[in-house]
Amino acid sequence: MDTVKEKVLKRIEESMDEAIELLADLVKAESVNPPGDTRKAVEVIERTAGTFTENVEIVSCDEAVPNINITLNPGGRPQLLYNGHLDTVPIGNEANWEVDPLGAVIKSNLMYGRGVADMKGGVAAMLMAAKALSVESVSLKGSLVLSFVGDEETGAAKGAGYLMEQGHYSPDMVVVGEITNDCGIAIAEKGINVYVLTTKGKTAHGSTPWVGVNAIDKMTKILYRLQTDLVPVLARRESGFLPPATMNIGTIQGGVSFNVVADSCEVVIDRRTLPNETVDGVTQEIQDVIDRVRKEDPEVEATLVRLAAASPFETSPDETICRLAQQTMKELGRPSDFVGYEQVCDGRIFSEKGIPTIIIGPGTAKKAHTPNENLELDQYMDAIKVYALLAMNAVGA
Ligand SMILES: [Zn+2]
Repeated sequence: MDTVKEKVLKRIEESMDEAIELLADLVKAESVNPPGDTRKAVEVIERTAGTFTENVEIVSCDEAVPNINITLNPGGRPQLLYNGHLDTVPIGNEANWEVDPLGAVIKSNLMYGRGVADMKGGVAAMLMAAKALSVESVSLKGSLVLSFVGDEETGAAKGAGYLMEQGHYSPDMVVVGEITNDCGIAIAEKGINVYVLTTKGKTAHGSTPWVGVNAIDKMTKILYRLQTDLVPVLARRESGFLPPATMNIGTIQGGVSFNVVADSCEVVIDRRTLPNETVDGVTQEIQDVIDRVRKEDPEVEATLVRLAAASPFETSPDETICRLAQQTMKELGRPSDFVGYEQVCDGRIFSEKGIPTIIIGPGTAKKAHTPNENLELDQYMDAIKVYALLAMNAVGA
């Protein structure tokens, strides 16, 4: 490893107190979504960014959901974008937390708090990496844009989607700092299709069910067939680095009272998709099951409506950013295998535009969105090194 890189890594180790303080300040800057107000978090970022650069831009289409972009060597090409989100999922039932969810409490090398892992840890690590490059005056030929956004947990229309549409950056490659279980290199991500499935019946008195058509009974038939005919097929369907496709019935509602024949029942289906599946194909698969049930029982009246879809993606392992990520991990003596990302993140926004996108971030995925969310501080410090070195490899002079 060359001396500039060694100096940067040393600087990062020496800035541990500052890095931990920044992360704590971010956790304390509540940004629960809904409502997804990112103003306090942006203030923390702006304050830190101001200590090492003047190229700080706050952009938003909703004043309560600001996004912040920080650029090193503006105008340089290629442009590497480090993307992270500032909003968090709700705290949930506070009684289930052992610590103050906004307290940034540290216990045995773990920092606790809502959003500390998903993904204020990734955000703070990217910012500390940029600071180390800047303080050590590392010369860049390309540019490094850090973009920290709101509205990720609920769709990205005001966050990364907005910035991309409005041309606030035009990256040649993207790294999203979401959790990849201690900075694994994720090059593929699942998509999500959300459906509302409704069955209609005919109401009647509960004592004379033969007079009506029970929409709950009809729904039961369809759900049973989805479980027996479709779920096992999905469980065998894999794609590259991702685990199998899945389907989950998230909610069910129907009927008005125990003594009335239900005339309506509705379920919401969460179908996680793979890069080798299409939106239309996935919809048709569910529709085929419904059609088969209807053939057996003509009284079944069901409609399937797609509420939302986010596309899956897979970046070729041959892309420059993938190779550079592997090189970086090897330089740091870390595992360099490619993995898949099982959740859904802002990565698709860039990937849909054909921009090579990967996901690398500190934290353990199963701790996200749960009470007592926490982040291993050594993973956090390692992530700063990963981001700093990767940026040097990708856009360094
Ligand atoms: Zn996230």
